[in-house]
Amino acid sequence: MKLILIFSALFGAALCLETFVGHQVLRIKIKNEEQVRNLQFLETLEHLKLDFWINPSTFSRPVDVRVPANSLQAVKVFLESHRIEYSILIEDLQAVLDREKQEMVASQQMERSSTFNYGIYHSLSSIYEELDNLASEYSNIVSKLQIGQSYEKRPLYVLKFSTGGSNRPAIWLDAGIHSREWVTQASAMWIAKKLASDYGNDPSITSLLDKMDVFLLPVTNPDGYEFTHTTNRMWRKTRSKHAGSLCIGVDPNRNWDAGFGGPGASSNPCSDSYRGPSANSEVEVKSVVDFIKNHGNVVAFLTLHSYSQLLMYPYGYKCTQPADYAELDALGKAAANAIQSLHGTTFTVGSICTTIYQASGGSIDWSYDYGIKYSFAFELRDTGRYGFLLPASQIIPTAEETWLGLKTIIEHVRDNAH
Ligand SMILES: [Zn+2]
Repeated sequence: MKLILIFSALFGAALCLETFVGHQVLRIKIKNEEQVRNLQFLETLEHLKLDFWINPSTFSRPVDVRVPANSLQAVKVFLESHRIEYSILIEDLQAVLDREKQEMVASQQMERSSTFNYGIYHSLSSIYEELDNLASEYSNIVSKLQIGQSYEKRPLYVLKFSTGGSNRPAIWLDAGIHSREWVTQASAMWIAKKLASDYGNDPSITSLLDKMDVFLLPVTNPDGYEFTHTTNRMWRKTRSKHAGSLCIGVDPNRNWDAGFGGPGASSNPCSDSYRGPSANSEVEVKSVVDFIKNHGNVVAFLTLHSYSQLLMYPYGYKCTQPADYAELDALGKAAANAIQSLHGTTFTVGSICTTIYQASGGSIDWSYDYGIKYSFAFELRDTGRYGFLLPASQIIPTAEETWLGLKTIIEHVRDNAH
């Protein structure tokens, strides 16, 4: 314990890391509409500085919330007085963060002279270096493109997997639009390596890349990702500044031009789900939109989030079924079965609105309305034991199972898109 404290003091001092000593993550079981409203009220109490990892929506899903040490008593009294049941998911968040940091430092030291370890979490610079390695090692099918730059001027790099042709039908895959969802950037890197190294070996990947291209953006929100490493591990948004507020950042998955400004997004710049001043205000979002429009032949739009183990299709900004509901639902269920076949991990399948809650300005709603039928959002492991702080030992199993789900979708797209 002492050692952990010294570690956290050292890292904290060296990197100006925000600490989360004494913060707890509570899991709240909601039983009725009244309790949903109670929690939605709690959410509005800004002085408590609560961080909802899973927002209150319906009573079919539990709510996970990070509560700073100073607010613990008030929150627990509030819950108990409204007879709302809760349990403690994470007793002391800082202890989990310290473990994650120690593990990262130790494995990076081991890695230094050898090759990129896909089973650990990496800094942005180390991920960007590996993109170059992949592009040079597999130069026959992999190339690196820059599709724009972030608010803080970091490049947005996409790996293009292609065996030639001109403007073939393409699969879009992105990760890390929410920066603290570290298992997504890590899984995207593993998937990049898988695609590159299995071409010519795996018949499915070979037939896919003989017909289509894949574009993979492993770090959609690089400013946020860097910030989670240097300053605040729990950062979700972009790092843009907006006139009239001292609060920083926009939720880039409320910023797409799909029901923008509707329910399930905040107009408060200090909220973690702040939608931004206008659709596409975030250059990270705008860069992807421009790329896809310019390409003109993207037939699937797939995006990785964590956590909750869900596989969702449109819509989020409204609760009506998409025109392709039957096909998307069947395909989603087939993908979930493929995921489960490997390590037994179960995924729930459905539209965003029916599975989690109404949320406007999301990426797959935009892509679907833009005409990309196969639009899916994955919420990877876990279901809350570690939440965003999934241990590195789970990166490869997560990536492996996710790949099976993606592959199910991609094979269907290969055989059905025109
Ligand atoms: Zn997310």
